[in-house]
This record gives sequence, C-alpha cells and structure tokens, in this order.
Amino acid sequence: MPLERLQKIIAAAGVCSRRQAESLIRQGRVEVDGRTVTALGSKADPGRQKITVDGSAIRPPARVTTILLNKPKGVVTTMRDPQGRPTVAQLIAPAFRQRLFPVGRLDIDTEGALIMTNDGDLAQRLLHPKYEIDRTYLAVVKGNVGQEAIRRLEQGVDIGGHVTAPAAVTAKAAAPGQGKLVITIHEGRKRQVRKMCAAVGHPVVHLKRLAYGGLKLGDLPPGAFRRLGRKDIERLFSKKNLYKHKNAL
Ligand code: URA
Repeated sequence: MPLERLQKIIAAAGVCSRRQAESLIRQGRVEVDGRTVTALGSKADPGRQKITVDGSAIRPPARVTTILLNKPKGVVTTMRDPQGRPTVAQLIAPAFRQRLFPVGRLDIDTEGALIMTNDGDLAQRLLHPKYEIDRTYLAVVKGNVGQEAIRRLEQGVDIGGHVTAPAAVTAKAAAPGQGKLVITIHEGRKRQVRKMCAAVGHPVVHLKRLAYGGLKLGDLPPGAFRRLGRKDIERLFSKKNLYKHKNAL
C-alpha cells in the first residue's frame, strides 16, 4: 500500500474525522510501529505498519458503510452513555461488524433522520459549514403561531449569543393551542430548533428531523435504517432535491 497521511488513515478507519485525527496526532496519542508521531505531515503505510490511537491498533474498514437511521425518541446520539441510556450505537450494532458513528447529533427527545457512517471524511464534509447542508424539521409547538413569529424565525433570531441564519418556515394550526412548523436550517447548533421556537414564544412539544440535505426520511419507521448508496450520498449534498415546503403540511 502506498504511504498515506496519518490523519487520512485514521479517518478512513472510522476512528474520527480527519480534523479530529490531526488533533489526536498533535496530542501525541498516535503511534506508528511503537513510536509516537506528533508531526502533522507524517505518512505511514497502513498495510505494513502498526498504527495505534491511544494504544489501540486501527485497521482500515473492510468497506465504507453509511446509513440513514430514523432515530427514535429516548435514544442518545453517542457511542457510549455514562448514564446507561440506550445509544444509537447499540441500536444498530447487531447489523454491522464495523462501528458506525453518528454525523452530528439529535437530542434525546428528537426523532428522525440521522446519518451514521464509518467514513470520517464524509462526516466532516457533511458537518462543514461551507456546504450549508439543509436540515428540515417538523416541530409541534405550543400556541398558535402568528405571521410575526414566522417572519422572525425566517429572518434569524437570537438564541443566546448567536443570531440564526435565515430559515425556511411553513406553519399550520395543529390541535387547539398548538402549531405545526416545518423549518429548514443549515446550521447545526445544539438544540437550535428548540431554542429558535422558544425565542419566538412557542416552545417545542415534539421534534422530528424529516430530511438531511436532499435525503428524506420518508416512511422509515423509528428504529429502522437503510443503507445509503452512491446516489444517496450525492443526494445528501444536492441542492436540487431539497424539502418542498409548499407541500410540507
Ligand atoms: N434542533 C434541536 O433543537 N434539536 C435537535 O435534536 C436538532 C435540532
């Protein structure tokens, strides 16, 4: 195998993204054939050399696997949970030999579209702000949502130290005293949709992610997943196949 940059090898093995691998290298947590390597340009041959991260040997994955999971409510978007709550890793583990990592996160109470992959570079690209990947959510909120609240959500609201980027918003009355909003944003801040809705006076009662990039959840039941092929990956980055708000509700 030809020599490759260490951070690329580590990302390809599904340990983490390339950028996180660079940080591991800088922190002196990576060894090649028993020698700690901290220089960022360093290369290695994953076929011949033993590469370890925190003492554990890495091996390039047998194949790159990416899935779209409908994360159910009550499941945490982590590989391990110190509080012992069910994790997305446990949910999908029986189906895969390799470890798949969640791309970004959904709150424990949020359900819906979650990409999981062992392709560190894909994960990094999906999360990179430069690609402005759209995420579409269905939020059931308290109160009847008026035009002013919708306008504020669309233009950007202060969610505590950050004014959100413009969003696409469609609203409809739901049950008495409740509204339904379909919101598309391309930022991925922690609890962003909940904070946005709370900021305009309509706390979220229920939240579901309907689409990630051009990939829609469709009728995938909670807890189920489907493997993504090359076309699906292209769709993730596609600007053409985005959620149509006109037909949203
Ligand atoms: N925004 C939220 O508030 N929660 C999520 O899980 C995702 C986006």
